[in-house]
Amino acid sequence: MAENPMLKFVKIPRLMPQKREASDRAHDFGEIYAEFSEDKAAEQASRCSQCGVPYCQTHCPLHNNIPDWLRLTAEGRLREAYDISQATNTFPEICGRICPQDRLCEGNCVIEQSGHETVTIGSVEKYITDTAWAEGWVQPIKPAATRGESVGIIGAGPGGLAAADMLRRAGVQVTVYDRYDRAGGLLTYGIPGFKLEKDVVMQRVTQLEEGGIEIVTNCNVGVDISFDEIRSKHDAVIIATGVYKSRDLAGPGSGADGIVKAIDYLTASNRHGFGDTVPEFEDGSLNAASKRVVVIGGGDTAMDCVRTAIRQGATSVKCLYRRDKANMPGSLRETQNAEEEGVEFVWLTAPNGFVGNPVTGVNVQKMRLGLPDATGRQSPELIDGADYVEPADLVIKALGFEPEDLPQLWGAEGLEVTRWGTIRADFETGQTRLPGVYAVGDIVRGASLVVWAIRDGRDCAAAILAQFDEARSIAAE
Ligand code: FAD
Ligand code: SF4
Ligand code: SF4
Repeated sequence: MAENPMLKFVKIPRLMPQKREASDRAHDFGEIYAEFSEDKAAEQASRCSQCGVPYCQTHCPLHNNIPDWLRLTAEGRLREAYDISQATNTFPEICGRICPQDRLCEGNCVIEQSGHETVTIGSVEKYITDTAWAEGWVQPIKPAATRGESVGIIGAGPGGLAAADMLRRAGVQVTVYDRYDRAGGLLTYGIPGFKLEKDVVMQRVTQLEEGGIEIVTNCNVGVDISFDEIRSKHDAVIIATGVYKSRDLAGPGSGADGIVKAIDYLTASNRHGFGDTVPEFEDGSLNAASKRVVVIGGGDTAMDCVRTAIRQGATSVKCLYRRDKANMPGSLRETQNAEEEGVEFVWLTAPNGFVGNPVTGVNVQKMRLGLPDATGRQSPELIDGADYVEPADLVIKALGFEPEDLPQLWGAEGLEVTRWGTIRADFETGQTRLPGVYAVGDIVRGASLVVWAIRDGRDCAAAILAQFDEARSIAAE
């Protein structure tokens, strides 16, 4: 009998693709992990125990058929592995790179729970899809038949583009409007290249356009075209605008030059990487080169800022966070990468004003952890008399994002929002209270993850198609 190609987790240890040395990777914006070789991908996939109840799949927001594509990879049947993987995930090469797998699929892998390390699901997913691109298996969409209905999508981030892909596959006419000059949303201008190289995003955008999706860039809805006009042009509209209003810091000196928002800083860096002329980068206001940089915040955006500053040639990079390492919201893997690259974390500290204009320092208050709050996390408390000044030439505020006030900006009466300012929409279909208007991604969930935006976009597209079909059958009666 042929040997079972799976269940090798007892003999074969977990192995991630080769990670570039910190001394090498800290000078450029290339991704830090190499690709698996074919035999390593097959070997790592073969560690899967093919669980009858695969918790990895349950905890993947897209419910990817992980056990099946791992088995096919272990057997060297990559084309079939790709077909299964792309059936549930619109952008598997992107999720394989930037999903926080330790909190989703891999964090729930059964063999990890049994004392063996998790299967490297994300790296295998990336390997399968990168191979598909290299082999020419990823082709522009060719709908079997076209339909008369048209959908307008506001926002070309992962949520909007995932919906666009599904609708176009069904033959719908799709137009995506975005205020930026390139599509991709935060994949293009937020997330740095060392996590997600930009040609990976751009090749997807090109594939979608070649499949007949129209992407209208430099089109700020509410300014260049009204929301009502978009509604009048299309049979349905999807709002996928993300959340971009940065949470701010008060305190003496907080308006000084040299104190900037994380999104402005990261966008300038990504634009520079594309070869664009970026005046704020050239004049140094959004460039960390030769500066003492202090980043405030402990989430993934803060991690992206500190690691960008290292690559830009900052003299020193410190990250202030009011809790400790065990209680920070950012991924531990990214924190470790940042530490390896030379970032200094100053745990249990919070800013209490700034010195100088332009800024020369941050007034820092030391904290300690007190009793747990309602969420179970220990609350930070001030330690009296333990303030000091941390020298800084550039301070980056990475404290999270909130939604813009869309009903007011767009004069969209009837577009209901929650008390957090996110759009009120059905979580399964994305349907808002306005007829024919749907919403997906961060603008509904608040700042979340790429994989959830993809899930929302796909679910919403399915709901719109069902609605179109129902309208057709009523018209035919
Ligand atoms: P977005 O990606 O924000 O796209 C919205 C689009 O709408 C943008 O292109 C914007 O220009 C456009 N738009 C907005 N308003 C208008 C308007 N009025 N008219 C026209 N267009 C408009 N998630 C992960 O899973 N892994 C990560 O590693 C990760 N890292 C991150 C790092 C940073 C720095 C940030 C900020 C976020 C990160 N995220 C990460 C979160 C992830 O990027 C978002 O959850 C995801 O991009 C949300 O997708 P979206 O389609 O809802 O919105
Ligand atoms: Fe894991 Fe994300 Fe891929 Fe799902 S999409 S299998 S959570 S890496
Ligand atoms: Fe394989 Fe782990 Fe998923 Fe089980 S939980 S099917 S071992 S990847």
